[in-house]
Amino acid sequence: MTSPTRVLVFNSGSSSLKYQLLDMRDSSRLAVGLVERIGEQTSRVEHTRTGGGNRERTGPIADHDAALKAVAEELARDGLGLDSPELAAIGHRVVHGGMFFTEPTVVDDEVLTEIERLIPVAPLHNPANLTGIRTARALRPDLPQVAVFDTAFHTTMPEPAARYAIDPKIADRHRIRRYGFHGTSHAYVSRRTARLLGKDPSEVNVIVLHLGNGASASAVEKGRCVDTSMGLTPLEGLVMGTRSGDLDPAVIFHLARVGDMSMDEIDTLLNKRSGLFGLCGDNDMREIRRRIDEGDEEAALAFDIYIHRIKKYIGAYYAVLGTVDAVAFTAGVGENAAPVREAAVAGLEGMGLAVDPERNAVRGGGPRLISPESARVAVAVVPTDEELEIATQTYALVGKNN
Ligand code: AMP
Repeated sequence: MTSPTRVLVFNSGSSSLKYQLLDMRDSSRLAVGLVERIGEQTSRVEHTRTGGGNRERTGPIADHDAALKAVAEELARDGLGLDSPELAAIGHRVVHGGMFFTEPTVVDDEVLTEIERLIPVAPLHNPANLTGIRTARALRPDLPQVAVFDTAFHTTMPEPAARYAIDPKIADRHRIRRYGFHGTSHAYVSRRTARLLGKDPSEVNVIVLHLGNGASASAVEKGRCVDTSMGLTPLEGLVMGTRSGDLDPAVIFHLARVGDMSMDEIDTLLNKRSGLFGLCGDNDMREIRRRIDEGDEEAALAFDIYIHRIKKYIGAYYAVLGTVDAVAFTAGVGENAAPVREAAVAGLEGMGLAVDPERNAVRGGGPRLISPESARVAVAVVPTDEELEIATQTYALVGKNN
């Protein structure tokens, strides 16, 4: 029998489960889908078989275990069930791998225990990721399950970038350091950007700006991450859809002491009710741009704060890297919002950065340059593909072990 070539990828969020089934011979998608609003009465499953149409259903799905079983049923209806002999492995996105996991890892009991031990630093995500792995394992105990960690790409960060300036004994006791997230995206986009320049990743320095609902920047030196904007948790760094990003830590003491808020209330404020949403009541960049076009000053200020922070990180990572070959924009905002790209780079000509308005205005399509022909530093739009990256890493690992 020929070796199995399919990889199923699960990406569990705190209340969602996205999945894709890929054939690694040509990286094609056989099926894609998602379960959203898990734990609510109105959970929704959307499943698409490539070339075979779309199915959708709503109704309560209690937890990630039930969600994964619902996905297995949908796949089975299309003859693509988990029992298929063509399935080589299942790849799971795991948000927090701490210091322990520097690479994709085949799951065994010890790996599960270690992911569990990291729950205090990723309370929203790691439990959902664990449930996904456990359920998939129970459904296909013989199949390799591979954990691909959001933090792994950033484990190459040198100590000066990874450490906070606090007592190392306290930091180590509580595992406090800068881990970074969105690692599969930063890895994929930095490599894809090198290819766009016709170079090997080991030949270029790239600043990656992952601007989605969550947002992070990274400095990638010759293929290795040397700094990234998210830290112990995904709260640090850029202004995001609903997260504040960087702020003076004393804001928290102030809110507790003077604002009389509890730690949980402050946590919710900074993670769920801040960022663009907190500033102007909208976290969708399309809506914010529409309001700006209508003269809305609140939306305009939110946009300017968002851009100011991105600019600061471009400057910071330029200094960290010394020389920069490319700045790459990715994720929902980075790939689609031309005004964000234009504003983020505006005024940086002295650093060799510029955007060509016509190239920047082109919508859709694959990886592309948006800087003028003569530019010293390439500015690029590089659509991210975390599922493909997880599948590629999973397949490479399982192939190696076969
Ligand atoms: P992501 O987290 O990568 O899925 O990105 C989601 C975010 O991308 C949304 O909240 C929007 O702010 C943004 N977005 C998606 N499509 C567009 C678009 N066409 N123009 C501007 N922003 C967009």
